Parts: sequence; structure tokens; C-alpha cells
Amino acid sequence: MTVADKDNLFTDDFKGQPYWWDRTPPRHFESDLPGDVDIAVIGAGYTGLHAAIQAARAGHSTLVLESSAAGHGCSTRNGGHLSTSVKPTFAELSKRHGESLARDILLEGQASRDYVERFVTEEGIDCDFHVPGRFHGAHCRGAFERLRREGETPHPVLDTGAFVVPPSQTRTELGTALYHGGVVYPHTACLDPGRYHGGVTDTALATGAMLVTGCPVRTLERQAGGFTLDTARGRVNARKVIVATNGYTGEATPWHRRRVIPIGSYIIATDVVDAALMDALFPTPRVICDTRRMVYYYRPSPDRRRILFGGRVSLAETDPRRSAPRLQAELVRLFPELAGVRISHSWGGFVAYTFDTLMHTGHDNGLYHAMGYCGSGVGMASYLGMRIGRQAAEVPGGATAFDRIPFRTRPLYTGKPWFLAPAIAVNRVLDRIAA
Ligand SMILES: Cc1cc2nc3c(=O)[nH]c(=O)nc-3n(C[C@H](O)[C@H](O)[C@H](O)COP(=O)(O)OP(=O)(O)OC[C@H]3O[C@@H](n4cnc5c(N)ncnc54)[C@H](O)[C@@H]3O)c2cc1C
Repeated sequence: MTVADKDNLFTDDFKGQPYWWDRTPPRHFESDLPGDVDIAVIGAGYTGLHAAIQAARAGHSTLVLESSAAGHGCSTRNGGHLSTSVKPTFAELSKRHGESLARDILLEGQASRDYVERFVTEEGIDCDFHVPGRFHGAHCRGAFERLRREGETPHPVLDTGAFVVPPSQTRTELGTALYHGGVVYPHTACLDPGRYHGGVTDTALATGAMLVTGCPVRTLERQAGGFTLDTARGRVNARKVIVATNGYTGEATPWHRRRVIPIGSYIIATDVVDAALMDALFPTPRVICDTRRMVYYYRPSPDRRRILFGGRVSLAETDPRRSAPRLQAELVRLFPELAGVRISHSWGGFVAYTFDTLMHTGHDNGLYHAMGYCGSGVGMASYLGMRIGRQAAEVPGGATAFDRIPFRTRPLYTGKPWFLAPAIAVNRVLDRIAA
């Protein structure tokens, strides 16, 4: 195969949109707004829809308002990896919050993954859910030593089932010469995020929740007994409001906007890869990520015909045609056999980081939020959406460990992360030095 040159990089039917949309195109629900509801939810991703399901099931009139199409945010754009989601370690969390809360936080991570598995089973959502496990590849020897120590020490809270893959065995997991072994986390699941979102949307509609798309909320004003939301389709009054906007949080809710850091993440899908080559490069069905600070995450598509390869490839936000060649270069660096394989899809979306790298839930006088999943929201957004929906509906089962953590911002931060480009540049240098 020849190296795909820049002009020949894209397939003739290339799409600058998520691969998942081929099978599950974004849906629009356009209708007039009711004048008054019990609970209004802003955002129709996993958080908003899971919240709405709980509120509607508890008998509250519930309206989900979405700026664009349903799931237009991250919830139909992600890689579909479903892990236990919490980034800081037990030691870090214990230092910050004490051992008891640290334990509860990590258990929430496990609960989020299990919640999605239960939900798709109970609701009969066909979304290619399965549990292939995850191979966490070490990009340098030092990283392998860290992973080995972690993998060989029993986890203080969770039964991870993790096992170490020594450098000499890397090729049993992945057909690359560039990783120095790694660790397998066998409980990591994966799914097709578009089909999953479609199933959650159908469940929400079946519970009686109303969903109106193409309807950005422009302002939110407190009134006696509730809120008035001014939207592109008119005004609506709600007793309570749930903010479920994550990386797309905007001016309508400035308090929340000051607390989340939107960061673009980008994915490509390759053209169809020869089946024998796919089996050589991906000898197991696992999803993959690596130990770099600027992490790459990837997997075969559910039909094992394409590779979906994601990461952060630019200092500033960029568009899919620009991110694609950079992702493809990294893919080919890892798997030289893929030189010449063209790209059929390229897209990106905004994840929400937080200053303490934890997700947050909370409320203030009728205004509820769940957000800040730090790039791991398939499980957590679903789970904390469910919890915050229960809190707003005032039914049991709403409490989470995250209610007990203050949601902090930083002085002078208004929602535009001016510090992102220098932080990414530094992390890249550290990744290169380590490699
Ligand atoms: C490229 C990429 C890959 C990822 N891969 C993974 C992965 O493999 N595993 C994982 O766990 N997580 C992954 N994530 C993260 C995960 O997808 C998100 O954390 C999760 O989908 C968040 O769901 P959400 O409902 O909170 O937010 P979103 O799905 O982003 O929904 C928020 C919605 O709010 C709407 N909105 C915003 N403002 C307003 C307004 N004023 N009025 C009305 N509507 C509004 C937006 O249009 C948007 O649809 C990835 C994200 C990206 C971008």
C-alpha cells in the first residue's frame, strides 16, 4: 500500500460528521412549547434524557429543550467506551476528601457503568452493548512500570479484575510495536453511542416527557415559585430547571459556565479495512487507550470493518478536515500497515473538564445540574442524569457522592479556557520526553 497523501486522504463519500450518524441520523422534534411545566431540562444528551425519564415517571410534566437536534452534543459523537469513569486515584481523592468520601466516589464510578448495562437490558435497547474489556497500552517503559505496579496491587475499593500484559506479550492484545505492554481492564464495556442515544430518547418519549429541538434557551430568570425560560420558540415557565448542557454550557447559565472547561476531542473512522489485517492489528475485541497525557482512544467499529481513532490533535479547536490528517498520522505511526487506508468520517465535540477533574451534581433553590464528566460521560452522564432527575422529582434514590463535593471555579475564569493551548503544549512535550 502507498502512503495516503494529503489530497487522497479522504474517501469519495467522506463525511465531516460522526460515523454513528450513518446508522442513526440525528432526529428533530419540532413543536410549540407548553406555557407551564413542572420541570424543564436544558439539553437532550444522556444527562438531560435520563433526568427527564425519572421526572416524567414520577408524574411531573417534563419538557426537554435542545438547541439543535436531539443528541447533537457529545452524546452521539463519542467513542462508545464505557468504563468506571472517575479520573483521580483513591490516594488523590482521600487526600482531598478523606477516605470515606473517596471510597464512595469510586463506587459511583462502578455504579455508573453497571447502571447503563442494566438500563439497556431492562429497556431492551439494541445498541451493540458488549463487554470486551479495555487494553491500556503503555507508550513508554516508565508508564509500563507505573501500570504494572497499579495492576499488581489490589484496588483499594473496586474489584477491577485488571491484569498486566508484559511488553513481550503486547501483540496478543494489539498489533503495534510501539507499546511497552499494558494492563487489561476486563469489565470495560462498549456500545454504539448513536443507537444508545436513540434508545434513551425513545424511552424518554414513552414515559411522557416532551422534547423540543431547535430550541436554544436564551435566558433563564428566577420568578416567584420557579423560572421563566426565554427560548427561540417563545417563553415557558417551570417550577424547576435541570441544566444538562455539559461541554456546551453557555450564557444562559453563567454560574455553570464558569465551572466547566469545554475541550474539543476528535475522532476519525477509517475506510473499510481488510478483515485479515483487522484481525492482525486487533486480535481481541477490546477497546484501547494509551498512557499519554494527551491520550489516544480507539476501537474497531461494532462490525469490525473500520477503526475509530480519537484524541486531541491541535492546540486550538479545529475542524474535522484539519484534525483528520493528524489523527491519521498517529494511527499510521502505531500501525504502519494502515498507510494508504483512507478516512471516511471525521468529527469532534466538546467534552467538559472541571478544575478538580471530577463530575458534579447539585442544586440551588430549584435549579439543578449534573455535568463535568471530564471526557468519560457515557456511563456518568447517564447515571448522574438519573440521580439529578430523581432529586428534582423529589423521589428516593437521588443522592450521590458528588452532591458532597463543592463545584469550584477559578478567579477570572468566565468559560473561555485561554489556558488550554499552553497546557496542551506542555503535556505534549512531557509525552515526547517520556517516549
Ligand atoms: C469525540 C468525543 C469522544 C468521547 N468518547 C467518550 C467515550 O468513549 N466514553 C465516554 O464515557 N465518554 C466519551 N465522551 C464524553 C461523553 O460523550 C460525554 O461526557 C457525554 O455524552 C455528556 O452527555 P451530556 O448529556 O451531559 O452532554 P451532551 O451530550 O454534550 O449534551 C448537551 C446538550 O445541551 C445542548 N445545549 C447546550 N446549551 C443549550 C441551551 N442553551 N438550550 C438548549 N440546549 C442546549 C447541546 O446542544 C447538547 O446537545 C466523548 C466525547 C467526545 C466529544
